[in-house]
Parts: sequence; C-alpha cells; structure tokens
Amino acid sequence: MDCIFCKIVSGEIPSKVIYEDEHVLAFNDIDPQAPIHIVVIPKKHFANILELNDSNILNAIFDSIKNIADKQNMEKGFRIVCNTGSEGGQTVEHLHFHILSGRNLHWPPG
Ligand code: AMP
Ligand code: ZN
Repeated sequence: MDCIFCKIVSGEIPSKVIYEDEHVLAFNDIDPQAPIHIVVIPKKHFANILELNDSNILNAIFDSIKNIADKQNMEKGFRIVCNTGSEGGQTVEHLHFHILSGRNLHWPPG
C-alpha cells in the first residue's frame, strides 16, 4: 500500500520519533502548525477513525497522548485533532491524531 505513514512505521521514510510502543508511533509533524506539533498514529493501517475497530489500539493511542503530554512541557495546554475526510481536512489516509501545543490555539478552528 502506498501510504506515507505506513512507510514511516517501516522506516522507509525517516521521522523524528517522539514515542513508540507496540501499537503506536508518534513523530514530529514535517510542517508544524504550533511550536509543538506531534502526529500520533497506530502502527496498523486504518484509513480513519471510522475504520478503527480495535479498542486496545484506541486505548494505546490515548495512553500515549497522555504520556507525551506529560513529558513534552505542555502544562499550559494542548489540543488533540483528528481530521477526518476531505471536508474534515484529512490529507493522509492513515488514522492520525495531531497534538498541538506551545501557543494560544484559536477557537473556533478554521
Ligand atoms: P492531515 O492533514 O490531518 O491528514 O494531517 C497530515 C499531517 O501529516 C500534516 O500535518 C502533514 O504536515 C504531516 N505529514 C505529511 N508527511 C509527513 C512526513 N513525511 N513526516 C511528518 N509529517 C508528515
Ligand atoms: Zn498507512
């Protein structure tokens, strides 16, 4: 499958890894939208949140997000974003959660 994030999991495309465990990989976004911008993905390919059918993986993703938020100086706050579908702003068709932090994040989002 021609998937950028599967290639990051396999190491074919390099990334700056922030966190890794059996189910999850987290790495710095290549085009950061905030001083801290980390992408958290399941190692297994799911196109989006609607395709995810394994609660162990969902738990692992959110445990990893809490772990990352603890360790990466986000005490002032952060935002978790899961763009889904074309109108949702999803450009990579491998489920991922953005963690954004390090500046005032606007609401509502654009
Ligand atoms: P989305 O637009 O929600 O699908 O998010 C996809 C994200 O993946 C964007 O923020 C991109 O900057 C990021 N991205 C794309 N290619 C890479 C890459 N090779 N390494 C790190 N982040 C990437
Ligand atoms: Zn993939």
